[in-house]
Amino acid sequence: MRKHVSAPLPIARTVADLRSAIAAERNNSRTTGLIPTMGALHEGHLSLVRAAKQRCGFVVATLFVNPKQFAPHEDFDRYPRNEAGDADLLASAGCDLLYAPGRSVMYPDGFATSVLVSNVSTMLEGQMRPHFFGGVATVVTKLLLQALPDAAFFGEKDYQQLLVIRQLTRDLDIPVEIVGCPTVRERDGLALSSRNAYLSAAERRVASRLNVVLHDAIKALRAGAPVDAVEGEASRHLAAAGFTSVDYVAVRNAATLQPVASLAEPARILAAAWLGKTRLIDNMAV
Ligand code: AMP
Repeated sequence: MRKHVSAPLPIARTVADLRSAIAAERNNSRTTGLIPTMGALHEGHLSLVRAAKQRCGFVVATLFVNPKQFAPHEDFDRYPRNEAGDADLLASAGCDLLYAPGRSVMYPDGFATSVLVSNVSTMLEGQMRPHFFGGVATVVTKLLLQALPDAAFFGEKDYQQLLVIRQLTRDLDIPVEIVGCPTVRERDGLALSSRNAYLSAAERRVASRLNVVLHDAIKALRAGAPVDAVEGEASRHLAAAGFTSVDYVAVRNAATLQPVASLAEPARILAAAWLGKTRLIDNMAV
């Protein structure tokens, strides 16, 4: 039997090419769904493509490893890059166009503007990685304005990022529907992430404990344990499981990320922890 091979995915490199491709689809009454990514794609990214495909006639994934969201000491240089492999995966998931702009398209000489979101971006990831959400908000604002899609799809895996993006599109009146999609996980619960490729075999075994510890914390919260006791216990369990250090385990209001007084309000548990040089994040609804 012949193996089905998808046609090569068209690639746009400039804003003009991106816009003319989307305009042609709009003239045929097709809506556009946008999926911003930094590449090194996995099933988590492809689940966003499939969600977009269900709602939109024309699906565009973007690939840009955004230097502005990495601090100088972070992993920008070693971040995994594989555009040809990514394009094949996207085509097989039903994506219609890849937008892969170069750095000079996104940040030409003289670029001087940043998008800064206050409140929801200041705690947790924003506290641990102070430059991070400024870089994310700036690049996502640019991608949304370049493509002007009907909807854009983001993973709950990066839950705080999803809230930051909802906030900026509301505040800046960017006419796009932001769709949050569930986290895709390995069988043992580890959330898929491009950074999982950094893990050694021993670290990979420890990594799955992150999700187990969050599950246990949710059970304890539902059984009535106080929030601060559960957060402390979960951090200790991560350290005991072999995590090198724990940036935070926090139970927060699911909409504002402010500390919760009780579980009467919708809550989310979020965590970030290190395995050697690799930083893992995860979160779940309480
Ligand atoms: P990244 O390439 O890591 O910047 O991620 C691009 C998009 O994919 C973001 O909206 C992420 O939240 C989403 N994503 C990453 N990992 C997962 C996952 N395991 N499940 C669902 N979405 C994900």
